[in-house]
Amino acid sequence: MKYVLALDQGTTSSRAILFDEHGAVAGKAYQEFRQIYPKAGWVEHDPKDILGSQVGVIAEALVRAGATADDVAAVGVSNQRETTLVWDARTGRPVCNAIVWQCRRTADMCDRLRAEGLDKMIYQKTGLVADAYFSATKIRWILQNVEGAAEAARAGRLRFGTVDTYLMYCLSGGRIYATDYTNAARTMLFNIHTLKWDDDLLSLFGIPRSMLPEVYPSGHFFGETDAAYVGKKLKICAAVGDQQAALYGHLCTKKGDIKNTYGTGCFLLMNTGEEAVQSKNGLITTLAAGSGERPDYVLEGSVFVGGAVVQWLRDEVKLISSAAESEDMALRVPSSDGVYVVPAFTGLGAPYWDARARGTIVGITRGTRREHIVRASLEGIAYQVADIVRAMSLDAGVDIRSLRVDGGASANNFLMGFQADILNCSVVRPAILDTTALGAAYLAGIAAGIWSGEGELRANNAAERTFSPTIEGEERAALLAGWHAAVKSSRIN
Ligand code: ADP
Repeated sequence: MKYVLALDQGTTSSRAILFDEHGAVAGKAYQEFRQIYPKAGWVEHDPKDILGSQVGVIAEALVRAGATADDVAAVGVSNQRETTLVWDARTGRPVCNAIVWQCRRTADMCDRLRAEGLDKMIYQKTGLVADAYFSATKIRWILQNVEGAAEAARAGRLRFGTVDTYLMYCLSGGRIYATDYTNAARTMLFNIHTLKWDDDLLSLFGIPRSMLPEVYPSGHFFGETDAAYVGKKLKICAAVGDQQAALYGHLCTKKGDIKNTYGTGCFLLMNTGEEAVQSKNGLITTLAAGSGERPDYVLEGSVFVGGAVVQWLRDEVKLISSAAESEDMALRVPSSDGVYVVPAFTGLGAPYWDARARGTIVGITRGTRREHIVRASLEGIAYQVADIVRAMSLDAGVDIRSLRVDGGASANNFLMGFQADILNCSVVRPAILDTTALGAAYLAGIAAGIWSGEGELRANNAAERTFSPTIEGEERAALLAGWHAAVKSSRIN
């Protein structure tokens, strides 16, 4: 029996999942690790926690599958994107904690870039908006603020890596120093058109080229792990950023294929084929996972508050006692009866980009019950997703026929049904919801020759349930008009 081992290093937990040759889960383990908040708006991870939790779950997943390291044919790494590590090449020791993608410590630096009009050049080269999420300003911060770092960097002694790079470096005893296109594309230092580190950006941020790893396709033989970790050398055959891994796990590999992950927030990615589509709606342009020399391009947008509105219903206003209860409650009323919930708790993202918008409930009458508010909250997730899907469809000039879904809130059948209604397309929920790990495993398995290609994988990629639209155009238009009026009310702060 041969397995593919996916290492899914996420923002709050590390997972290891063994997939068999049919793409079925044979064993899995996960471990949460510490989030460090040194100041308001700052988020860090201890690199030892990242590595320790990831190595820990490998052994546990093997035990759960009744397997040993001898049964592992290939390893694929998927990872939280943009999170920034810098270490000393001589000792392998990080010079400070990892700066997590959510960390806002470099927001001022990004304000200055925008004030100087450099955001346009950054967008042209990288497809990204000049934001503190991405790695470049975080590396700059480390060079400016960690004692001795700038000097060590100039002397060629420092290495930068996103989490994939750091894990491969550590697991291989320093022999692999590499990343893939999807991770490189999130650093704000990588030119997504030439597929090279960009000298103008490196000099803008004062980062020497010696600090950057080699970049390869996501599905690629990166090298072997050190036998010290699991008693045997394992072949690392894929590295890929988590959202692109999920896109690949859904086998969204053709132009117009689109997926949404319904987690705390929502992450929408659409494959746009060979064309790097420029968005008129503030969406990001980035690279897709694949095994070929030239990756496909992707449009990406996110909803800040997705499943988090369900947590708010449960923990703050206490209208429900569990996330799952939101489904039963929503189904107890035939409609939200004109109530709209715009969950703009932290402003609105694409396509509105209004940081001052605030959460708003409109349309309340004397007859409004908590069921209506719960239902309208779930609908509010679907409407936000629909706004982004529409923006992507317009930007790329493609009709969306189906949306593939995963993430915690995709378990909610009411939400998925309403999403199909409001998008007027089918919503497909796969049988395996560990889509991120699955994508890393698919890429690694193909690179290792376990699977011949995507064609073979499609046979495994069964839908657990497909939701089809059940309402007519007129009703949809009326609902959307109500939503857009509600969004307008949320923006008058
Ligand atoms: P993350 O990776 O962002 O932590 P998950 O994919 O684990 O997110 O999903 C968790 C989110 O999904 C939470 O915000 C939770 O409120 C929401 N959620 C979980 N189950 C349901 C459900 N049955 N209906 C609606 N929302 C749900």
